[in-house]
Amino acid sequence: MNMEVFTVENIPLINEGDDITSIICERSTIEDNDIIVIASTIVAKAEGRMFRLEDIIPGEKALEIADKHNLDARFVQAVLDRSKEVLVDYPIFLVETQNGHVCIKAGIDDSNVDTGYLADLPSNPDESAKKIGLALEQKTGKKISVILTDTNGRAFKIGQTGIAIGVYKIHPIMNWKGQKDLFGNVLEITEEAIADEIAGAANLLMGEGDGGYPVVIVRGLKFRSEEASIQEMYRSDREDIIKKGLRCLSKV
Ligand code: GDP
Ligand code: MN
Ligand code: MN
Repeated sequence: MNMEVFTVENIPLINEGDDITSIICERSTIEDNDIIVIASTIVAKAEGRMFRLEDIIPGEKALEIADKHNLDARFVQAVLDRSKEVLVDYPIFLVETQNGHVCIKAGIDDSNVDTGYLADLPSNPDESAKKIGLALEQKTGKKISVILTDTNGRAFKIGQTGIAIGVYKIHPIMNWKGQKDLFGNVLEITEEAIADEIAGAANLLMGEGDGGYPVVIVRGLKFRSEEASIQEMYRSDREDIIKKGLRCLSKV
């Protein structure tokens, strides 16, 4: 078996209003079943989701959290505005975004953006992935999938990896339940987080710095599906014992 993972070369600095699909099409030849992996940073830039701290007035809760971290209270307010719930406010600032993604500081980035500006995550990454995916399919005539990525830490382990935050036509989870292992035993629980695995592979080429590689194409996998959503991989509140545990901790 084999798969190819390669960068799209010569992508310019992205600004508000830029047409990411044309930029990709002009610099690549896309084939059926390709998975186009895109760093959320450039989608946010193209969607104009940049903001400045000057425009934010922090509330009481923001001032309180900012104090513990020695962070700018306006930044903390920006995180709170994008969060459904603060899971841990200190010593890490872990929130669930309005979209259901759990991450540090609501995924707001100050790297790879203009000085003085911050970049939000796309507000609905599935919608953004779909828009780009449909436009790519229309321009190329090929059937593809799209994964939007961000860089996230994980619980329990040091080190960040690329993870999926939005998908188009690829189910983020592959269910192995009912399939057999080498000894004929039926698998009962294994669900493989393929969108995160693909995001991780793509992130190896993207890097985190000044490489300038926000788009990676993964070729050779046959994972294209019908309608799909990143929500398929988020545990419900009822099932999520980690979240429950964190809520208990914050009450101590
Ligand atoms: P994130 O993981 O989505 O937060 O994005 P990163 O800041 O880690 O950037 C991922 C990759 O995209 C790196 O190779 C960056 O150099 C690159 N990158 C970020 N913004 C741009 C841009 O506007 N143009 C280009 N060409 N590359 C960018
Ligand atoms: Mn990021
Ligand atoms: Mn990154």
